[in-house]
Amino acid sequence: MRVVLASRNSGKLEELRPILSPLGLTLESQAEHDVPSPDETGTTFVENAIIKARTVAEATRLPAVADDSGIVVPLLGGAPGIHSARFAGVGASDDDNNQKMIESIATLEDPITAYYFCAIVFFTSALDPTPLVATAAWHGTLLHEPRGSNGFGYDPYFVPDGYTVTSAELAPEEKNRISHRGLACDRLILQLQDQKQDQSSANSS
Ligand code: IMP
Repeated sequence: MRVVLASRNSGKLEELRPILSPLGLTLESQAEHDVPSPDETGTTFVENAIIKARTVAEATRLPAVADDSGIVVPLLGGAPGIHSARFAGVGASDDDNNQKMIESIATLEDPITAYYFCAIVFFTSALDPTPLVATAAWHGTLLHEPRGSNGFGYDPYFVPDGYTVTSAELAPEEKNRISHRGLACDRLILQLQDQKQDQSSANSS
């Protein structure tokens, strides 16, 4: 089955492609289909992932998968949350966002807890009334000084619970295995496997 990933990030495509292919799903990119990205007008990660997937499913008339993620700092009232990519403003770079994060947490007392959150959704069509929704959180604390150069975004400041290194000091394979995105992906795959199982049981009865 052909499935379109609602993302312009080729890294995500390469990460998800080998995971979905054993399920008989061939992942294609939003860019290949020339679908413009919608405005993310939701107030939750799940809503924004749904908006992205539905837009792509509608435009391509193919099943679509989309994710939405970010970092949540409870002491900042949940910020930057769904605005993580544009914490310092529209078009902000990772450095701009990290600078804003350092300033925002400067006067807070340690430990400053935070968690990454990821929502992944799968729509069989734009009007699918029962999309698959998988979410996961990855908890840790924030540093005031950066460490490490792997990963992206807020990784140099995020120390996952149970670790003494930042997520930017983890090997990429290790991060993918334990991160919010890795876990949400595992959970979606379990649901896809269940769905496939249900369909084959229904077909054989
Ligand atoms: P996206 O929705 O996955 O494109 O991510 C939105 C934003 O959340 C990114 O631009 C980053 O600022 C932040 N973010 C999400 N996941 C991660 C991560 O694994 N490491 C660092 N930053 C992340």
